[in-house]
Amino acid sequence: MVRERREKPEYHTPIYEMAVRQFDIVSDRLDLDPNVAERLRSPKCAFIVNIPIKMDNGRLSVFQGYRVQHNIALGPAKGGTRYHQDINLGEITALAMWMSWKCALVGLPLGGAKGGIRCNPREMSRGELQRLTRRYTTEIFPLIGPERDIPGPDVGTDEQTMAWIMDTYSMQIGYSVPGIATGKPVNIGGSLGRSEATGRGVVYVTSEVARILNINLDGAEVAVQGFGNVGYVAAKILHEMGCRVIAVSNSLGGVFNKKGLDINKLHEFSKKNHILSESKYGDRITNLELLELECDILIPAALSAQINGDNATKIKCRILAEGANGPTTPEADQILTDRGIFIIPDILANSGGVIISYFEWVQDLQNFFWKEKEINEKLKDILINAFNNMMIMTKKEKVENRTAALMIGIKKIVDAMLIRGLYP
Ligand code: GLU
Repeated sequence: MVRERREKPEYHTPIYEMAVRQFDIVSDRLDLDPNVAERLRSPKCAFIVNIPIKMDNGRLSVFQGYRVQHNIALGPAKGGTRYHQDINLGEITALAMWMSWKCALVGLPLGGAKGGIRCNPREMSRGELQRLTRRYTTEIFPLIGPERDIPGPDVGTDEQTMAWIMDTYSMQIGYSVPGIATGKPVNIGGSLGRSEATGRGVVYVTSEVARILNINLDGAEVAVQGFGNVGYVAAKILHEMGCRVIAVSNSLGGVFNKKGLDINKLHEFSKKNHILSESKYGDRITNLELLELECDILIPAALSAQINGDNATKIKCRILAEGANGPTTPEADQILTDRGIFIIPDILANSGGVIISYFEWVQDLQNFFWKEKEINEKLKDILINAFNNMMIMTKKEKVENRTAALMIGIKKIVDAMLIRGLYP
């Protein structure tokens, strides 16, 4: 179907276009009501804030921050907070859209949102980051709330960031509001299992796919792009399960060892030195080379559009488990599928994070906390169920995995929008 847009909105960037292209494939396939489809191509609201803070050197700097809510048909908006030097409104909008589909796919009563600040957190002191986070929280205050929009962590933010958001919001309200943010430290209302949730979820679904494809995880070769909260945890658990993690990387490049890397030692090293190849545990490898390694399981757990038309023909894994959001472009999707690579799409593979964020929010609202075992069992249950639903859709509609997963998520949102109707 040919679509005409009246004019390009501010968030119209390549990543946003990629998200819309994925949506349009599904919209055609589901033969969506054109009015609802039109609404879903754009976010409900996109907030830009300028955040002035005093730097340690006494000078003032102004950073640009964002909070985008894509859709709230199923419940309060939910999504992470990204601190990265290259983000823009378009990327945050695409990420918010992916959160809508993700929450719906795995059956959470939540909408989709994303926020962030264009900054390089690696170059900022703890004091600067605290001032930045507190002022950002104050600037987006009208938009957020435990019944409204609940920030969580993402690339460049962590438990401490979430604690500052929670404290700043609570100070404005006048009492403690733990349900305002998720991914908090456990002692102020965080959930057990949240810090490892995304990586653990990647492993649960990957193990299920390996079982179906008859890939023995014992000795299976794994390459992981990204050694942050998602990539490190996935690599660590797979290593514990007997996989041979042959390569990992971070933004500065990676390290390769065909015999397998000791993930715990490498993690210890990476706390002191960000250049992984200086660890002497293996050979230096670039991020692009890592993606092209021959392996059983490839986990892109860094940034978007890493696997694209340029390198898709060179990807040699059997399972592609998308720990990152949007690591594969639609062009690459087609090439990989034609080549028989099993893609576990991002909205399923990395949904463990937001699933446990949902558990955290529920626990905060009811002031009653669950055991970690219970949490991980519930997580696994939701993920395997969502995976099975995707497989049923794949077969029934004869579509590839991503389209099937998106069809399930998008259909749930569309049904909710249709039954709720258009206000006023
Ligand atoms: N940043 C995570 C994601 O992309 C989770 C965000 C959250 O917990 O709200 O799914």
